[in-house]
Amino acid sequence: MNRLEFINTGLALMGLSHYQSDKSMNIDPHLLIGKGSPKLVGKNHFLLTEVDQSFQKMHTAAQKQGIMIKVVSSYRSFDRQKSIWNRKFVNFKSQGMTDENAISKIIEYSTLPGTSRHHWGTEIDIIDAGPPEEGDVLLPHKFHDQGPYTALREWMELHAREYGFFLPYTQDKNRTGFKYEPWHYSYAPLSRPMLKSYLELDLSQWILSKDLKGSPLLGGVFLENYIQSHVKGIDSSLL
Ligand SMILES: [Zn+2]
Repeated sequence: MNRLEFINTGLALMGLSHYQSDKSMNIDPHLLIGKGSPKLVGKNHFLLTEVDQSFQKMHTAAQKQGIMIKVVSSYRSFDRQKSIWNRKFVNFKSQGMTDENAISKIIEYSTLPGTSRHHWGTEIDIIDAGPPEEGDVLLPHKFHDQGPYTALREWMELHAREYGFFLPYTQDKNRTGFKYEPWHYSYAPLSRPMLKSYLELDLSQWILSKDLKGSPLLGGVFLENYIQSHVKGIDSSLL
């Protein structure tokens, strides 16, 4: 068994054995910041095996109620997140924003590369494949009132936890960091211990690089505050 297989087996055992682990695990930091080679499964979306298995069960159950859960985003590498970050930075700068304002705007919804929960293979962004897709699908109002994904949100609020999926970015007014994302679910049996391990890393050593736009502003106090407000600014069920 190689190191990655060992880690994946460990993760699987952890998830199956208990949901409320408060222990961190000895996980290769590269896997936590999106620079590793995790063992992922899937065709259109990529997830850790255990996450995918639980997702498939949830998908089948929802389908029986007429809801077709469709994953629009899952595993994302560091490089992918960096290209999203740099593209948004250039775009906001071209609108006349300062570097500081561009960064503040990006981190309303997007993460600093190396800090995305999507690096872990435990996260999904979902919509309902039933209604026709028009324009941007990941908008909060589409999940409420007369929006096309209201039935999906209501079903998930009632049942997602049975399958281990929890919402990190809730509407809770006391929560800091990223805005409300009714589409983003996290597979808690694995993402909880992964977060514990992640928070033990010295992130400044792992994620800052010259080719990251705005890099001179992203270290020191910014990073400390960002970890506190954004990385830890999730629903308490996932801490
Ligand atoms: Zn997401």
